[in-house]
Amino acid sequence: MENAGSLFRPPSPVEELIDPRLAARGVRLLLKRDDLLDPEIPGNKWRKLKYNIEAARRSDHATILTFGGAYSNHIRATAAAGAIFGLRTIGVIRGEEHLPLNPTLAYAAGRGMTLTYLDRPTYRRKTESEVIEALHRRFGDFSLIPEGGSNGLAVRGCAEMPDEITQNFDLVCCPCGTGGTLAGIAAGLRGDQEVLGFSVLKGANWLDDEIRRLQEDAYATPQGRWRVNLDYHFGGYAKTTPELLSFIADFEKRHGLRLDRLYTGKMMYGIFDLTEKNRFSPGTTVVAVITGPI
Ligand SMILES: *Cc1c(COP(=O)(O)O)cnc(C)c1O
Repeated sequence: MENAGSLFRPPSPVEELIDPRLAARGVRLLLKRDDLLDPEIPGNKWRKLKYNIEAARRSDHATILTFGGAYSNHIRATAAAGAIFGLRTIGVIRGEEHLPLNPTLAYAAGRGMTLTYLDRPTYRRKTESEVIEALHRRFGDFSLIPEGGSNGLAVRGCAEMPDEITQNFDLVCCPCGTGGTLAGIAAGLRGDQEVLGFSVLKGANWLDDEIRRLQEDAYATPQGRWRVNLDYHFGGYAKTTPELLSFIADFEKRHGLRLDRLYTGKMMYGIFDLTEKNRFSPGTTVVAVITGPI
């Protein structure tokens, strides 16, 4: 593709967060500011798209088709990436069309994404060949990226993150939706380093299996040391509680950083709560991945 953007991004910054609640327990916290990776694409979505974009650009059709709900960050990010990298993008949205488009879909359409809709029963069957073949009949050739953007190529993109951190650390923390980001980070760790994911979904007991599956997709074997904590979902995806919202507001007042309520707010609440409960031994250095804004 002519005039398409470069896939290179300099490493995102790492900043230490100074907070007496952490110091009191001997925990050092570094923030990996992936929210600063790209002005239009949330950081982990950028990492997950990188090799998918490269693969689509190498193919003849230069088209990406992907799936998401009407408020999906991944749909937004894919539309932005398409505009930057000269790829045609098709967003298959769950449910019916509602006009006017909500801000997510209006943004996606504004970036040139073709939007199409599947009723909920059909959407649930979106990985079946019958549904995919019907999409090919309508839209021709495309590279398919699954809902949420997690596949083997996404995992490989996220695996590049730990190496960008030049300070010593023991533990990386990240929020988990599909688990693709965590699957990749785990693969990029060295020695005894570990990654702890915080599920933003309620009852996500399937996450462990899914993370293993994604790692096998990328590398054929399990990778790295990782765990998922299921205790900080605050009611489920996009659900909040007054406690979570007041934590986020207080955090912004103290540190001038606005955490989002879907992902990074829940993770950070979990990190501070586990610290207070002495679940990190004194002297531990934790890296919290600020995966993005909303
Ligand atoms: C999508 C998203 C996540 C979840 O990433 P998964 O790879 O699906 O686990 C985390 N943080 C932000 C900001 C996101 O947009």
